[in-house]
Amino acid sequence: MYGLIYRNVLLPLFDGGLKGRKTLRYWASAEESQWWSPERHEDFQVRSVRALLAHAVATCPFYCREFTRLGLTPGQVESLGDLAALPLLNRSTVRANRHLLRSTQPMLNLSKSTGGSTGEPLHFDLNADSNDRRVAMTYRGYGWAGAAPGTKQLHIWGTALGNVPYWKRVKANLHRAFDRQMVLSCFDFTPENMASHAVRMNRYRPEVIVAYTNPLYEFARFLEERGITLHRPRSLVVGAEKLHTFQRETIERVFGAPVFETYGSREFMLIGAECDRHSGLHLSQENLIVEILDDDGQPTPAGEVGNVVITDLFNYGMPFIRYVNGDRAIAGFSSCSCGRGLPLLNGIAGRQLDVLDTPDGRKISGEFFVHLIKDYPSVRRYQVYQEDARRILLRLVVDTGFTLADRSQLEAEIRRGIGPSVEFDMQFVAEIPLTATGKHRVVVRQAPIPATVNTEIPV
Ligand SMILES: [Zn+2]
Repeated sequence: MYGLIYRNVLLPLFDGGLKGRKTLRYWASAEESQWWSPERHEDFQVRSVRALLAHAVATCPFYCREFTRLGLTPGQVESLGDLAALPLLNRSTVRANRHLLRSTQPMLNLSKSTGGSTGEPLHFDLNADSNDRRVAMTYRGYGWAGAAPGTKQLHIWGTALGNVPYWKRVKANLHRAFDRQMVLSCFDFTPENMASHAVRMNRYRPEVIVAYTNPLYEFARFLEERGITLHRPRSLVVGAEKLHTFQRETIERVFGAPVFETYGSREFMLIGAECDRHSGLHLSQENLIVEILDDDGQPTPAGEVGNVVITDLFNYGMPFIRYVNGDRAIAGFSSCSCGRGLPLLNGIAGRQLDVLDTPDGRKISGEFFVHLIKDYPSVRRYQVYQEDARRILLRLVVDTGFTLADRSQLEAEIRRGIGPSVEFDMQFVAEIPLTATGKHRVVVRQAPIPATVNTEIPV
């Protein structure tokens, strides 16, 4: 009942009335456009990207300079294939040119930051309208999993770290009660906490569980080993880390409900999500153009793994055009038997964050570090490395803005998360090498990884 009232009365009043957002309008239109034919989607993308390019070159100093330098004009792009002529944008370019990438046209902008699965923190902007559009995509994608706004949800997710002011905590709690969401932090999953999380979950009886992949998998294994029975949700939605087949099987067996994989990032929010056919991730096609390219910027042959490159069609505040986001995915898009015209991404290959084990039985999610370090803008790169059960090492590449106070605060926050049973060191280095696959792995545990992880994806 609350779900219906929330969706039809409270959310429109709050979102549209109080906040003046267009989220619900975009959501309604996305529910319709998901059934468009692939041709109609392509036509919409071409028109949208042409408008975006014209805007970017006319109002963003960075794009004006780059297009002039390369002798390009926005009008040259008449099809999606023509995008190949445009340069790629990467994280370091965004970091170095944030103010030049912003549009000079006055509009309401929001500031965001990400720790990044690639270990290179990023601060960026987006305009409010584009935020409404991406929230709408998330509503639609989560809706496929039965997790549309108003459903009773339990989140096993990263919660704010460090010293959060009291009023912020109160505000966050009010929001959650309004949205019918209960949040359990996945950052302190000790065996004791997992048992009490199970009790709270059974009391709360969520319709849907939304979780980071690896902590949920560890939790499922814990429940199974202890023989703990849980309230059965309608479905589970996982994100932030790749879902492997063996993890899906375990989670579905333990919770007795289907798992829906999602793929998103702070820069774009929901990039893809599974429908009930579970045959791939439907792309947020009305908002994003997704390309899979090799290291030379050429299209990756279908079935092979390449770099994910994304153009956000509506971030007019700070256009991301052909942005290499650091993730890797299997090339080749397919269609789905559900009839939606949104192409399917066949699988994500990157984004693996290990879970670290400590001698006192804690399981530290890789997301713990990603979340924490995103709040330190002078950290340029980092890698967390557990050589053996007793020692965790954090390697950092920092700018001159990184102070001694930053250092001790970061150290204290990490120590709080990992507990006293493990040695911890910080090492300041000039560079952090990439792995053999060209991927910068942020959180690495030196321990055998189950064979299925390596055989599933031909990286
Ligand atoms: Zn489908």
